[in-house]
Amino acid sequence: LAQKSGPNNIRFYDPKVQADLEARIELEHDMRLAIERDEFILVYQMQVDSLGRAIGAEALIRWQHPRHGFVSPGTFIPLAEETGLIMPIGNWVLETACEQLVIWANDENTQHLTLAVNVSAKQFQQPDFVDTVCGVLTKSGAPAHRLKLELTESTMIGEIDDIIARMHQLKALGVSFSLDDFGTGYSSLQYLKRLPLDQIKIDQSFVRNLHKDTDDKAIVQTIIAMGRSLGLQVIAEGVENQEHWRHLNEHQCHAFQGYYFCKPVSAAEMIQRSLAAPPMLA
Ligand code: C2E
Ligand code: MG
Ligand code: MG
Ligand code: MG
Repeated sequence: LAQKSGPNNIRFYDPKVQADLEARIELEHDMRLAIERDEFILVYQMQVDSLGRAIGAEALIRWQHPRHGFVSPGTFIPLAEETGLIMPIGNWVLETACEQLVIWANDENTQHLTLAVNVSAKQFQQPDFVDTVCGVLTKSGAPAHRLKLELTESTMIGEIDDIIARMHQLKALGVSFSLDDFGTGYSSLQYLKRLPLDQIKIDQSFVRNLHKDTDDKAIVQTIIAMGRSLGLQVIAEGVENQEHWRHLNEHQCHAFQGYYFCKPVSAAEMIQRSLAAPPMLA
């Protein structure tokens, strides 16, 4: 039971609910300031081919909060989506990722690397999203064909024809698409057939128990086979050990990402790691 006393002064009788609400309001307030205070950074997680060689990376946001320390994107991204703050934050991510792509493009050791950026459903559905991406690409001079946008199945809720049209506009710029967390949402195979995707990303929940769960083995094999026969690149995330990697490799998964190869780290550290010898399949 809530009682209102003034616009920003909602009181609950349950002290736990009240405390949670206050924490949320504080986090939202701090998030508004975080961009100008430069508290966000991007870390990069290497993506490798079947021989373990770096082919690209995924950019993942981190928030260094002045009092609470590190706040997980799992906590603040959903709140940013609810409050609309995902728009300025998402733009910052795009700009920063494109700056990184320019740096990589100017070095022959890194110019082949692609960079995947997570785009939330709400961000993608903004009427000016295509213009925003186009503007960031132009301003930064980043090679569009090295930029990959990761969408989730939640983005596909809504007018699917409009979503497809928008994807085609972005593809015309040279940008490619990956469907993140594949298998966890409710995208029908009908959508999968129609969406102009380049890649599907097998969700880590199927990879996690690959060494011991025969159902997960079957699911992963099926996703890879289906993706391949639809002409899509298939990448697996959450590859944590050699057994995961071996199973995925045996079933011809194209690309791999996970702690087994590299945790999300600074760009410099990732490049350092990518120059070292990749792990071998024994
Ligand atoms: P995601 O896009 O599915 O990213 C994969 C998550 O799995 C990342 O968590 C990554 O650090 C973690 N991960 C990578 N390899 C392994 C592994 O081998 N084992 C395990 N257990 N985990 C692994 P993170 O960085 O905490 O991000 C969580 C989610 O937050 C992301 O899931 C994505 O949905 C969202 N997110 C992160 N950065 C951004 C961003 O810039 N924009 C938006 N809109 N969302 C973001
Ligand atoms: Mg992702
Ligand atoms: Mg994912
Ligand atoms: Mg996820």
